Amino acid sequence: MSSGTPNAFPILGDSYSTAGVTGAVPRITSLLIKPASAVCNLDCEYCFYLDRDADPYKELPARRMTHDTLERLVDSYLFYSYPASTFAFQGGEPTLAGLDFFTKLVDFQQQFGRGGQAVSNSLQTNGVLIDKDWCQLFRQYHFLIGLSIDGPEEINDRYRFNKAGHGTWKRVMQSLELMQKEKVEFNVLCVLNQANVDKPRDVYRFFRKLGIEYMQFIPLAEFNPDGSPMPFSITAEQYGRFLCEVFDLWWPERRKVRVRFFDNLAEGVAGQKPGSCTLHETCDSYVVVEYNGDVYPCDFFVEKEWKLGNVNLDSWTEIARRQKRFSFAAKKTLAHPECQVCEYQAICHGGCPKTRHGPQRRFEDLDYFCQAYKMAFSKAVGPLRKEVEKLYGQSAALTPQHISPY
Ligand code: SF4
Ligand code: SF4
Repeated sequence: MSSGTPNAFPILGDSYSTAGVTGAVPRITSLLIKPASAVCNLDCEYCFYLDRDADPYKELPARRMTHDTLERLVDSYLFYSYPASTFAFQGGEPTLAGLDFFTKLVDFQQQFGRGGQAVSNSLQTNGVLIDKDWCQLFRQYHFLIGLSIDGPEEINDRYRFNKAGHGTWKRVMQSLELMQKEKVEFNVLCVLNQANVDKPRDVYRFFRKLGIEYMQFIPLAEFNPDGSPMPFSITAEQYGRFLCEVFDLWWPERRKVRVRFFDNLAEGVAGQKPGSCTLHETCDSYVVVEYNGDVYPCDFFVEKEWKLGNVNLDSWTEIARRQKRFSFAAKKTLAHPECQVCEYQAICHGGCPKTRHGPQRRFEDLDYFCQAYKMAFSKAVGPLRKEVEKLYGQSAALTPQHISPY
């Protein structure tokens, strides 16, 4: 929909109501569920969730999703999202909800799913609690696991600590090896920080030596209240250099190994909607479900002002129609002047509002990682375009588009 199309969805104001929202609305295509909220059994120095003032639940000590909320969530979402339903679990640390919780999840999915309905489950974990029983459940029901590890021991243990302040690498490696032995499908989530961002070769080779064929790199950008980056945050130039070097390492084995950033870019170049919301036009493809059933539009905006409803009280259709959802979704389209003339705008869409940081956090600022995106796009888009054209016969045009679909 171009900006010239009549707007079916009133998005002005942050009303909790659905009044006046008519016609088809973008579907909620996946859930990110936090069964233990932001509670974690580790104490990583760089963690976004630790001591977050805006977290509405931070004063509550015991945060676990009940079986009743889980039942209601699975029942209602399977009905809403037929025929394909995606459940992604994250935290904090989601395994703190316990093996019994996830066994119940599968029971409910089997009970409420309809014939032919496809259900996929994924879970991001720090790996500390993973044992044979967890592996058995993951393997039996084809969970896709994302395991957090930042590279070799000296890199990982620079910031990833347990509650006693000790490094976690040895324990995580036990889980990694166990998952390999038990044939659990998993990929690695590597946070790019000041310990590893200048070592792309060491990091990539470390994962490849372990036989890892799917990697996600998550750039770390946390800021002090005055807007200055915290010491472990990386610069845009460092992130750009990292991506460019990893691209060179990955390219010869691109048919075998997956690097999420380039996967998503290839999807965009092929004219498909990329898997990562950072490259979407608007922020409305998934929602977060907190431990008590509260729903938010994004994990980085679990804040009172963005609450969309609660699965115990509202239907998914109502939640999908909340004006506040459209209001949040459209914030991404407040593009910086530089984005409006950028040759990559049609693929980048201004990055992620979470990292649009001037001294004050404002949705209309330029993404902190803009320079990195430009470096990576200028390196990768050309070769990816040729590859896509070889496979599909054509690629998508990167002509600038009208920015707002709302
Ligand atoms: S690369 Fe930078 S200028 Fe271009 S669209 Fe992305 S954030 Fe905006
Ligand atoms: S704010 Fe960023 S992470 Fe959140 S939905 Fe938008 S693009 Fe995705």
